[in-house]
Amino acid sequence: MTTHPRSEADRIVPPAAPSPHLGGRLTEPLARVLGTRTAQSLAKLDLVTVGDLLRHYPRRYGEPGEMTPIRDLRVGEHVTVQAQVRSATTRPMRNRGGAMLEAIVTDGRDSLRLTFFAKRIGVLRMHEDKLRAGRTGLFTGTVGEYRGERQLTHPDYLIVGVDAADEDEAALEASRPIPIYPSAAGVPTWRIGRAVRTVLDPLTAADVEDPIPAGLLERHHHGTLLEAWRGVHVPETQADWQAGRKRLVYEEALVLQAALARRRAEHDSHATVARPGRSDGALDAFDAQVPWPLTGAQVRAGQRIAADLARETPMLRLLQGDVGSGKTLVALRAMLQVVDAGGQAALLAPTEVLAAQHLRSLRAMLGPLADAGALGGDARGTRVALLTGSQGAKARRQALADAASGTAGIVVGTHALLSETVQFADLGLVVVDEQHRFGVEQRDALRTRGAHPPHMLVMTATPIPRTVAMTVFGDLETTVLDERPPGRADVVTHVVPAGNRAWIDRVWARVAEEVAEGRRAYVVCPRIDEADAADAMDVDAPEAGVEDLADEARLPLDADAVKGASAPRPRLAAATQIAEMLRSRPELAGVRVGLLHGRLSGDDKDAAMSAFSAGRTPVLVSTTVIEVGVDVPEASVMVVLDAQHFGISQLHQLRGRIGRGGLPGVCLLVTSAEEGTLAAERLAAVAGTTDGFELADKDVELRREGDVLGTAQSGGRNSLRLLRVVRDAAVIAQARDDARALVAADPALSTHRALAMAIDEWLGAEQAEYLERG
Ligand code: ADP
Ligand code: MG
Repeated sequence: MTTHPRSEADRIVPPAAPSPHLGGRLTEPLARVLGTRTAQSLAKLDLVTVGDLLRHYPRRYGEPGEMTPIRDLRVGEHVTVQAQVRSATTRPMRNRGGAMLEAIVTDGRDSLRLTFFAKRIGVLRMHEDKLRAGRTGLFTGTVGEYRGERQLTHPDYLIVGVDAADEDEAALEASRPIPIYPSAAGVPTWRIGRAVRTVLDPLTAADVEDPIPAGLLERHHHGTLLEAWRGVHVPETQADWQAGRKRLVYEEALVLQAALARRRAEHDSHATVARPGRSDGALDAFDAQVPWPLTGAQVRAGQRIAADLARETPMLRLLQGDVGSGKTLVALRAMLQVVDAGGQAALLAPTEVLAAQHLRSLRAMLGPLADAGALGGDARGTRVALLTGSQGAKARRQALADAASGTAGIVVGTHALLSETVQFADLGLVVVDEQHRFGVEQRDALRTRGAHPPHMLVMTATPIPRTVAMTVFGDLETTVLDERPPGRADVVTHVVPAGNRAWIDRVWARVAEEVAEGRRAYVVCPRIDEADAADAMDVDAPEAGVEDLADEARLPLDADAVKGASAPRPRLAAATQIAEMLRSRPELAGVRVGLLHGRLSGDDKDAAMSAFSAGRTPVLVSTTVIEVGVDVPEASVMVVLDAQHFGISQLHQLRGRIGRGGLPGVCLLVTSAEEGTLAAERLAAVAGTTDGFELADKDVELRREGDVLGTAQSGGRNSLRLLRVVRDAAVIAQARDDARALVAADPALSTHRALAMAIDEWLGAEQAEYLERG
């Protein structure tokens, strides 16, 4: 394969500078086109250029005559409601002075009150004049309550057809779908719509170069980008915006998949050192001493990986498996093959706790094979080193030396491994455990270190649905461990209502019973202490009824929505307080309770973990730092407090910490979530099955919008806007085939300049987010 002209360095520069004749109009600042006042308000939505504004797509559409169900509005939500005016009356206010306008709008069934206050009655006449009975409009505001009735105070609104030049135009306006944009306080949707029309109207096809190659447009019967923008921003019919949206969705999928295909091609173009297996080495010695037979899935995955490692094309493989399916063993065997071939392997873990535990379990599994060169060590083996951010200077120096000299064939570590100061003698394989927490750029950091890119094995914490894998890990080949080692006891899961005193007493009694049997219990809390907002904020989808309204309320840019969300909420359980509370529970008299959370030092975390592991503190109160991979076979109970706060895969991962030693486990999900809410449904799903693959599908089904990909993939200005991994699975698969074909024929995409630029923009945004987070 030819060497890719685009170097690694090219790919991490911020969004490409505008080329003189490409997108010249689209990169123009809004201030120049719309004036500074409008531009300033649009800047609140992060919209700076003409292109930004055109890619700010309507969230939904008000179809002519279709009213928003008022009954479903919830107090505290920021909403845009389409409704008909029933009445509007202005009256002076005796007590307070000034005047008040009260309008009633209706969806035909229920009504909503709009109130406006003013010092002088004259000001209100303007509203009264617009809010005439029978007219339809959009009303935006935060739902409040007054004397038991819902109302919007000083809503922003748009009356359909009022500003039209004449009756005909008004009638026409009333017959078209109304785009409803993600808005911010003070920038209502119609103001955005007006701005969009101002920049869109003068554009011609020459101003808008299309990232989708002409051949693909034709094959999939899509219109041009300009047509699609007109369709979504100024539709005359429902079919207009649907067609536009469909094309834009495909475009996002294509850009993303082309980026992944190009990354893959680039990766494949660098040869590396083949690390074939060898007989009578560390791997053979290890296989001879493993106390149990490998599962069929472990054997199959092992063969796959062994074959990959024996090639000069660097491996780039995703290993998926349910919690407890034995991924570590598969990884270790791959690492040993590399050691046998004279190379080194690095195992990258997301947390210090997990890194330390990997070190322990690798050493335990390897036995004398981890002590090569030492007294009692096995000469066929190697050394295992640990590198973390918080370790002492002396230990760190030793680990660095062992990595650099090659004495350590296996180096386990956290992000600290990514630092430039870490040198390897000959890094042949990088295993990334629990990939969820690492970005692609971090994955790349180790790849580009040595003379040759290492082979790469990425492992997920819990199964992820195929659609997500295709989107997030589209450049990786996938192997699935679809079998669990035998002899693992079942874990039974119950949902426990937090309000039921008797049940809660029973929970702690159960913990005490298990401890009395010599077992251990985890108690998981969402927060560290009072000051901590929450340790596990990555999910928590709002439990709203009407989808669109929920989306509106969730929009982070929406100042009003933030206000609305601060409606009183019970405080979430905090680990430090729960630990105190448990120490004084009568059921647990004489039982020592440990505490583990992310703000402890590395040493303290280690100490807490080993005290628990050894049984000195048989109850461990912790935050989700124990979520991934921690392995204490004696742990048989887990109590998750405020379980509604956690997502499905997180709970599944947490639950995977118990029932590991052949002891039946019980997982108690304590929650205040009410019946019928989305949160309750999530918990029911977790209680309903222990199959991670089934839960992964359920998870995706229950989530909406960009939640699935997490903020890294969905939040950025230039990242996915319309594409939804679940809904659009078929489009993504199609785009993947198309992208692979394009990249295979033209790896640099030099004949598809607009597509290459769109990719750079996408990668630039991704990189920018990574830097912000870093
Ligand atoms: P995960 O896939 O969740 O990372 P681990 O690699 O931590 O799972 O393995 C879970 C447990 O199963 C470990 O205690 C490990 O030693 C054990 N294990 C792995 N493979 C087998 C096997 N083939 N037979 C029995 N136990 C196994
Ligand atoms: Mg693991």
